[in-house]
Amino acid sequence: MTLQIFDTMQRRKVPFESRRSGEVAMYVCGPTVYDVPHLGHGRTALTYDMIRRYLGWSGLVVTMASNVTDIDDKIIRRAEIENRTESDVADEFTIAYDKQMSRLEILPADSRPHATQFIEGMIDVIGQLLKNDAAYELEGKGIYFSVQNDTSYGQLAGRSLGQLLEDAGSRVGVDKSKKSPLDFALWKSAKPGEPSWETPWGRGRPGWHTECVAMSLSALGEGFDIHGGGDDLTFPHHQNELAQVNALGRPFARHWIHSSMVNVSGEKMSKSLGNFTNLEEAIDIAGPRALRLLALQTHYRKAMEMGRDSLMAASEAVKRLDSFGRRMAQAGVTISDAEIDEVSKKSFISAMDDDFSTPSAVDTAFRLMRQANAALDDENIADASKIASSCVSIFAVLGISIDTVARIEQEDSDVEIEAMMKRRFEARSEKNFAVADQIRDELLQMGITVEDTPNGAVWFKA
Ligand SMILES: [Zn+2]
Repeated sequence: MTLQIFDTMQRRKVPFESRRSGEVAMYVCGPTVYDVPHLGHGRTALTYDMIRRYLGWSGLVVTMASNVTDIDDKIIRRAEIENRTESDVADEFTIAYDKQMSRLEILPADSRPHATQFIEGMIDVIGQLLKNDAAYELEGKGIYFSVQNDTSYGQLAGRSLGQLLEDAGSRVGVDKSKKSPLDFALWKSAKPGEPSWETPWGRGRPGWHTECVAMSLSALGEGFDIHGGGDDLTFPHHQNELAQVNALGRPFARHWIHSSMVNVSGEKMSKSLGNFTNLEEAIDIAGPRALRLLALQTHYRKAMEMGRDSLMAASEAVKRLDSFGRRMAQAGVTISDAEIDEVSKKSFISAMDDDFSTPSAVDTAFRLMRQANAALDDENIADASKIASSCVSIFAVLGISIDTVARIEQEDSDVEIEAMMKRRFEARSEKNFAVADQIRDELLQMGITVEDTPNGAVWFKA
């Protein structure tokens, strides 16, 4: 089976066909940096990181571009409230975002355009849209895209133009000066005190939907393979990106992928609901690998349920994986993290090629863990080694490393020995030599020799 992906545009699973054989170019909409990253950022990043890792593992050369929106209404508002510059706000939250991404071991994008560094490209796009009569100027407001000539407008959102117009028309606060309520700003005229750039149609700043058009085409070229993001971006953001590129007459993304949301304790995660838990807190609670595991255990197009219980369960599962890895290592089982036996590989690939069915891939890997444990119980080292390697390798492809070094168990036992040494010292201080001798004998049975020196007692392994 070849890779099938659910293409939002076609609303069904389709065979993945890349622009150039053996290569994949993907663009994923990145954060608007006005606040600390939330759980949704984590989930989106983990989804596309999984896709990227899997495609890379299957032998494709993946180029990934992901932007940073560093100029936006919310950044401007925060800068104003906190009496700082917009770039200061954007820098702070870009660093905060990167910090959590690095904890989650998200592979850095090959290209990471910042909106404010691409203004020229955006001015080009808008200039061409004006020339093609796809955009118009509203005095004092800026340049707007006119959706009326785009007969396919709404297709990505799965809505007809009529339906969208009805929704938009009934909304309060619609700007009546626009030709259509669906028209959107490509360029916003400068307001006093806001950052602005010079253009042939006056000073101002770009609209979000134009930013991603200019940045994605510049980073990856026309007809790149995958355009992705959270499913809250499908409409209007991605639809509006597409409308512009259609009006430019240029080929855009071949496939559209959207990842679902995060529900916190059963409620849709959203800042406006006030149940906001940020990404850093979740990673602090459960650890980065548990968060990744939890994300993998839910299909990327399904809402991810996240609460303290599910985080703790994932954290326990990661601990089980580590103690499995250490148990194997201590028993002298050799584990490779790049060897999957043929049968497991087949089942892993068939899960992943079915629109990245990670829950099923993770099940396969956990089954292998149980089988390897059983093989070791039977003292079948050769089988244990083969099966454990497949398990660890599958988790490695999915971005979860497992501790396969005996060292940590060692440290645990050292802690125990130190505790016994302390009790022996206390017993001797109280001249309770019988207890002290008993502890020494217990240690001896554990293979630990105790020696009393002028500087206190020391221990070593026999
Ligand atoms: Zn975007």
